[in-house]
Amino acid sequence: MAMFEGLAEKLQGALRKLRGKGKVTEADVTEALREVRMALLGADVSLKVVKQFVSSVKERAIGQDVLESLTPGQQVVKVVYDELVQLMGGSNAKLTVASKPPTVIMLVGLQGAGKTTTVAKLAAFLHKQGRRPLLTACDVYRPAAVKQLQVLGTQLDLPVFSMGTDISPVDIARAAVEHANRHGNDMVLLDTAGRLHINEELMTELEDIKKTVQPHEILLVVDAMTGQDAVNVAEAFHAQLGLDGVVLTKLDGDARGGAALSVKAVTGCPIKFVGMGEKTDALEPFHPERMASRILG
Ligand code: GDP
Repeated sequence: MAMFEGLAEKLQGALRKLRGKGKVTEADVTEALREVRMALLGADVSLKVVKQFVSSVKERAIGQDVLESLTPGQQVVKVVYDELVQLMGGSNAKLTVASKPPTVIMLVGLQGAGKTTTVAKLAAFLHKQGRRPLLTACDVYRPAAVKQLQVLGTQLDLPVFSMGTDISPVDIARAAVEHANRHGNDMVLLDTAGRLHINEELMTELEDIKKTVQPHEILLVVDAMTGQDAVNVAEAFHAQLGLDGVVLTKLDGDARGGAALSVKAVTGCPIKFVGMGEKTDALEPFHPERMASRILG
């Protein structure tokens, strides 16, 4: 698996020396953690997050009976694993489902992050679980986006709600929920407009949609390849809109890992899904334990 290759290799390298040791000193831990710190910084994890991470690993590794245990090296590695899991949110964060359908899920993000693709992937994922999703085209600024969603809907054999590009996104969203009510769709997925940069106009429009349809979930789609930028985007969207979760896309590429490791710690929003490819089945629920295992090998 190509994911976070550099990070994984460096972290494993840093911890390898400890793993087999019968006796581990405080200096050994300090030395290994220095390498861990370098590995995380090299993977574009923010300095603040790295500092916190290293200091909590150190506290646990040196403060408790870890070094006195029968397998001190392995215990230290276990501490690193546990802290990585915590850093990424602990456990898998699930979608909120409305007690009275339809559940409305609004997907937001910058252009090119993979929002429209993610709407289709999420619809396919939910459909597999027996749901009846309605894909909704609220990006009225790019006619190509409406078309793209229709093509994906046809591929998946799932319904797409669109009203062209002359109607306001707020009205489309409202009409989609009514349509879902009438047609028994228990999930409405809103594909909203993205821009190249965060601006007031974009945020105001998203706020208007939020106010009108009161989505149960607002998911931000960000591109993992953009590293700390993805985290900054998440912070900005969260401050303005209040996010329920993040979908991190393009983890199949050569993303360095910074975004996956920092998003939760910096914004408080959990990563709920990750995109692992361009195809509509390439979406996985995000499991911090699995990710930590992948990284530590
Ligand atoms: P939007 O502007 O945010 O709606 O972005 P799109 O959904 O149009 O996606 C932009 C590009 O990213 C497209 O070429 C997608 O195929 C690609 N893409 C989206 N998600 C992923 C992913 O998880 N992995 C890879 N490799 N490509 C992705």
